[in-house]
Amino acid sequence: MNSSTRSDIDVLVIGGSAAGSAAALQLGRVRRSVVVVDAGEPRNAPAAHMQGYLGHDGMAPADFVARAHDEVRAYGTEIVVDRIIEVTDDEDRLVGTTESGRTFRARRILLATGLRDLLPDIPGVWENWGDRVIHCPWCHGWEVRDQRIAVIDTTGMGTHQALIFAQLSARVTLVVNTEATLTDEQRERLELAGVAVEDRSVIAIDAQDDHLTLNLGGAAVDDSASGRLDVDVAAVAPRFEPNATVVEHLVDVADHMSDLGRVVAADALTGLTSHPRIHAAGNVADPMQQVLHAAAHGSRVATMLNVSLIEEDLDDARRSAEERTEWNDRYAGRGDQMWSGNPNGSLVAEVSGVAPGRALDVGCGEGADAIWLAQQGWEVTATDISTTAIARARAAASARAVDVSFEAVDAAVDPPPAASFDLVTIAYPSFKRDNGARTFRSILDSVARGGALFVIGHVLDEEALKHAHEHGFDPAIYLLLDDMVDLLPRDFSIEVDDTRERPNAPADSHHSQDRVLVLRRDS
Ligand SMILES: Cc1cc2nc3c(=O)[nH]c(=O)nc-3n(C[C@H](O)[C@H](O)[C@H](O)COP(=O)(O)OP(=O)(O)OC[C@H]3O[C@@H](n4cnc5c(N)ncnc54)[C@H](O)[C@@H]3O)c2cc1C
Repeated sequence: MNSSTRSDIDVLVIGGSAAGSAAALQLGRVRRSVVVVDAGEPRNAPAAHMQGYLGHDGMAPADFVARAHDEVRAYGTEIVVDRIIEVTDDEDRLVGTTESGRTFRARRILLATGLRDLLPDIPGVWENWGDRVIHCPWCHGWEVRDQRIAVIDTTGMGTHQALIFAQLSARVTLVVNTEATLTDEQRERLELAGVAVEDRSVIAIDAQDDHLTLNLGGAAVDDSASGRLDVDVAAVAPRFEPNATVVEHLVDVADHMSDLGRVVAADALTGLTSHPRIHAAGNVADPMQQVLHAAAHGSRVATMLNVSLIEEDLDDARRSAEERTEWNDRYAGRGDQMWSGNPNGSLVAEVSGVAPGRALDVGCGEGADAIWLAQQGWEVTATDISTTAIARARAAASARAVDVSFEAVDAAVDPPPAASFDLVTIAYPSFKRDNGARTFRSILDSVARGGALFVIGHVLDEEALKHAHEHGFDPAIYLLLDDMVDLLPRDFSIEVDDTRERPNAPADSHHSQDRVLVLRRDS
């Protein structure tokens, strides 16, 4: 089936700035189905320009993201301007829900949500942040060269910052705002670099027309008198917090080695977090990255994430091929026809008289139900893992001059298109437990709004179980109807849950009763 309309996507990228867009670009180019959800608030948004990015030096941050989004969209990737507010783990799928109520079921999440800068609690810092209050000599240093620069040390990082700013200006002052005093060694290094030291704290920053006035007082070292320091710019070292609230119940968040904040713990090469299906890239995992590094990180993590998807694809393909062979052997072992050729009596009883629309029959076998539905006016797609069954079904439809689209498809690896069918039917489902939940969920998702999923199952009474075990068949390895009821999402309700005599049961059947479920999706 067409992968672009699948209900499950390969990767949900949360955050579509440098790291997320670069990751999405790579994944789109290798035809992964990807959705990027981006709240549109990159860390450097307060700054007018983005410096130090080769090829884009000086570009406005918003222009950079807009261009990145255009490049990502060119490969068919959807970018949704919204915020993920909840992530849940449905065994082998992750589900992200946005503020506006959209949900995305994905095999992997790539977390590229960046971080929040926690600025020192000094009046005037926030108001001038990204303009005359800066933090990064690499991002803004050249632009403030030769100016009067005050490095306000609230974290112990001040000496390090001041030594870099001293390369750019001979007028740098380190204001010792921390509880801790400078060591003799630090003072010596600052002196050698020509950095002045001010031992009083900054109480507030007042922006004047063309400069900043730092109001000093409350000495860090001694109780010297209050005063003022006029400078052109001030530098601070923010603490930080990863934007990871939505996944904190799923991944480990650890202290960063700088002691200035926390990060989502992720493998340096693959970006894999403590969750086997969540990767992280960019500032959320490494606060020291600038835009170029974050983009490179996203790009690399995407390639490693893709490798893990390839391995999973191969496992699926191997299992699917084995199951197809098993089913083909069963059909071949029962002559030219395994089933009665009649439509299922419970299906006929339930669906007769329903206004026809689009129908999907999953696990259609030799096609009797699908052919009957088509004869009632339904536009039918019917799928089965067995190529033998599909060949027989096509022959049966052609003999009766009935038009049904039969496809040899394993619903576990190739889910049906989302929200597309008014009626979906599954007769006697045999979804193995290891991937049954995900298969069933994608089938549920193929039901159109207001449509119904019709499931007919065997009633597993003592006699039926005994017969199954005697024939080497263990129903416990399959998803049961009770499991399906447990998996129902909020937008489905149970319209029918009945145990009935099985109409027209084949004479050799060991199941005299059917359990019938009609599960209706909200309009
Ligand atoms: C003031 C300032 C100026 C800077 N200037 C420069 C510079 O000149 N050059 C440079 O190289 N670096 C600069 N940086 C650093 C730069 O901002 C970061 O390196 C870069 O933004 C990291 O990219 P990222 O993709 O990891 O995260 P971000 O760019 O922060 O992007 C994270 C994205 O995720 C989104 N998001 C977060 N949570 C969610 C959610 N739940 N759902 C959906 N979306 C979500 C955000 O809205 C944002 O769009 C500057 C930083 C600051 C603070």
